[in-house]
Amino acid sequence: MIYDYIVVGAGLFGAVFAREAKDAGKSVLVLEKRDHVGGNCYTYEFEDSGITVPLYGPHIFHTDSLEIWNYLHRFTEFNRYQHRVLTTHGNRVYALPINLGTINAFYGVNLKPGEVGAFIQRKIPVNPQPMNFEEKAISLIGPDLYDAFFKGYSTKQWNTDPIKLPAELITRLPVRQSYYDSYYDDRYQGMPLGGYTPIFDGLLKGIPVELKTDFIDAKDHWFARCRKVVYTGPVDEYFDCCHGRLRWGSVRFETESLGVSDYQGTSVMNFADPDVPHTRIVEPKHFYRERRFTEERTVIIREYSYFDPLTPYYPVRLADDLELLAKYQALALGEPNVIFGGRLAEYKYYDMDDIIGEALRAARKAGH
Ligand SMILES: Cc1cc2nc3c(=O)[nH]c(=O)nc-3n(C[C@H](O)[C@H](O)[C@H](O)COP(=O)(O)OP(=O)(O)OC[C@H]3O[C@@H](n4cnc5c(N)ncnc54)[C@H](O)[C@@H]3O)c2cc1C
Repeated sequence: MIYDYIVVGAGLFGAVFAREAKDAGKSVLVLEKRDHVGGNCYTYEFEDSGITVPLYGPHIFHTDSLEIWNYLHRFTEFNRYQHRVLTTHGNRVYALPINLGTINAFYGVNLKPGEVGAFIQRKIPVNPQPMNFEEKAISLIGPDLYDAFFKGYSTKQWNTDPIKLPAELITRLPVRQSYYDSYYDDRYQGMPLGGYTPIFDGLLKGIPVELKTDFIDAKDHWFARCRKVVYTGPVDEYFDCCHGRLRWGSVRFETESLGVSDYQGTSVMNFADPDVPHTRIVEPKHFYRERRFTEERTVIIREYSYFDPLTPYYPVRLADDLELLAKYQALALGEPNVIFGGRLAEYKYYDMDDIIGEALRAARKAGH
């Protein structure tokens, strides 16, 4: 059989595109090299407690788009989870992003909103031309807050002393002048009640999916079986990395089941200090408070940062990476029967709502 589309990758971009094409009456086959659908949004139920656990890092759904919020409601209900992030520094816990509560607790003061700007400004040394990440951060929030909340964390995240990182990695460091501590500002926010995997079961309903199948291993074979390919894998791998590999930041996850009902009292705790090797601990139970878990068990996930193009999480996107990307984009223009889409093919960080929007746009552009 010749399919209208072979979609490479059962992540959010691939699954949404496949759904739209199928609903428009097209024949679609999805290939996925992993042994499950869902891409990096994949969740599973932990065997001894039934807690829904993300395999590739916690995913909080948030969007300002009513269209995308409604679209996902075709496949799931959401709870009312509102994301908040805490950080441990010097054996004390503070709220992030830095807000009035963080500043008052950190400096032991009781500022009012109108006083924060001038207070922080007085702490910032004059530096008209910050030359690196550290100098740029200090020019925005001063040395005290930088040392406490960013220096150690960024060193762990980039595996590099921040004075060796370029200033352009930071465009802004938000300091909220109120006690508002919700991480996102979007109008719609929540966690899908059963985790993310059931969304993919709905998106891919009635569409054949071949798991553990790497498109790159048999490109010609798959091209002979379809009219068009939708490719959501890494763009450099599509072209056999002929110009070199794009750089990615990766995360190693260490998952542990514990015999306590609540380990840290919150879903995400960052660790700002350099002597703690992990960047954060995620406790997924707290994403689903409506389930009222009664068991004396929880799951925690420690996250460690490292660099590895084969485990792509966060695109580095410094000047030399973007030069390399431009070369692959030029090659992609010579592939009229391939639609390149998604975070890996575009070498770009996208939130989930944006990737759904991109996939819907790509489907519309293809006439569906
Ligand atoms: C740690 C982390 C946390 C995140 N948290 C959030 C969050 O809280 N909120 C939010 O909105 N967004 C979050 N995101 C972003 C979110 O993960 C992405 O928007 C989304 O996963 C992108 O979907 P995608 O389909 O482009 O890519 P992916 O999910 O990566 O899917 C691509 C799929 O293609 C498959 N594939 C690749 N190459 C091949 C091949 N050659 N053959 C067959 N299959 C192939 C891969 O196995 C994968 O399953 C987070 C991202 C990361 C890295």
